[in-house]
Amino acid sequence: DQTPLPVPNSPTEVKQLGDEFNQLLLKLNRQMQREQQFVSDASHELRTPLTAIRGYVSLLKNHGQDHPEVIAESLNFLDDESLRLQKLVEALLTITRNEKLEVNLVPVDVSSVIQEIIDGYHVDKRTIAFRGDPKVTAVADANSVKQIVLALLDNAQKYSPADSPITVEVKRSNDQVFIRVTDEGIGIPDAQKKRVFDRFYRVDAARSSKIPGTGLGLAIVSQLVALNKGKIAITDNVPHGSIFTIALKAAF
Ligand code: ADP
Repeated sequence: DQTPLPVPNSPTEVKQLGDEFNQLLLKLNRQMQREQQFVSDASHELRTPLTAIRGYVSLLKNHGQDHPEVIAESLNFLDDESLRLQKLVEALLTITRNEKLEVNLVPVDVSSVIQEIIDGYHVDKRTIAFRGDPKVTAVADANSVKQIVLALLDNAQKYSPADSPITVEVKRSNDQVFIRVTDEGIGIPDAQKKRVFDRFYRVDAARSSKIPGTGLGLAIVSQLVALNKGKIAITDNVPHGSIFTIALKAAF
């Protein structure tokens, strides 16, 4: 009752199968290394706010009673660090969730989706200009488009002066739909334009200027763009700032 093993047709076929198997192993190996790196980076990033929180709790316990000024200061730091921890955990959950996410790509009126986001965007009292044609439809998942544009707007707002303009454009060109988010902020040097999509990567200028962030926003954006079979690119906004362009397949 044993099924016979398949008999290879030729020695070259055996070799070919062996090669394919080895390549598969190599790919799996690389994937596993990436996963391990991710877990190790994530643990490191989680440890930083946790250590700070434990430090301030012990400061409060030891000196809070005799030094009231320590209480206010510590609570402020605890507020910041616990918020940072919360943002990190939320972003990590989003990344793992997206890895298993299956999206339904259907015609979506991208102009309306974006107009709605802009109308409801009230972060830091920034106004966002919408430039684009009405009823531009792309083959996409509406929720992903929302998440992508929201993340890019949050970055545009974080990395540019409070009174500088932010613009979102929607355009159709042949069989593609382009969504473009433009700011007049600190910009991203050429050498870093690719790396900003890596998990936890932050440009030094962003770190040193103490603008809070997890370094995971653009990693999530690039995950969502891939799920939508789209492309994303960064260019400079001359003289200042960045332009993030997303290309999606147009719907007919
Ligand atoms: P973060 O939480 O740090 O904002 P992101 O993954 O969203 O993480 O972005 C990664 C890095 O890319 C940021 O830390 C910043 O250095 C840079 N960056 C992203 N968007 C912009 C922008 N609009 N202008 C300038 N720098 C940006």
